[in-house]
Amino acid sequence: MADERANEAADEAADETIFSKIVRREIEADVVYQDDLVTAFRDIRPQAPVHILLIPNEVIPTADDVKPKHEPALGRLFTVAKQLAEQEGLSGGYRLMVNCKDDGGQEVYHLHMHLLGGGPLGPMLCGAVRDERHPAAGANGGRA
Ligand code: 5GP
Repeated sequence: MADERANEAADEAADETIFSKIVRREIEADVVYQDDLVTAFRDIRPQAPVHILLIPNEVIPTADDVKPKHEPALGRLFTVAKQLAEQEGLSGGYRLMVNCKDDGGQEVYHLHMHLLGGGPLGPMLCGAVRDERHPAAGANGGRA
């Protein structure tokens, strides 16, 4: 029993991220939306005029850790992103992006969706790895 509690405590500690502190309002952030499943706040280093991060309140470290039980929270990310895009006046369009692990450029291991907008965002990737198996990829997005 004591072992079980110790394991649970260790799991909780491992799940702790800077973003879970934002969810619990233990550190400051410009929170623009929160409900029982997700939280959205402005990125501290915005890469576009509008740059909001949307996260599940429960820590899912990366997109690689997604399980069927996460579907309600992950679905909510999209409906809230759409709502925030409308609130922010992004009628011309926007980009939703999820980075996964090191190669994907993920910095914080608490799955998050970037909502970027406020003007033309340019090409999707700036430092793309060329893949010899798919030479068209990266040049014109694979279009013929
Ligand atoms: P990633 O590279 O993991 O996809 O994106 C992480 C994002 O979190 C970055 O854009 C970074 O600026 C943002 N970020 C990191 N720490 C904080 C923080 O403490 N507060 C806020 N609001 N954003 C953060």
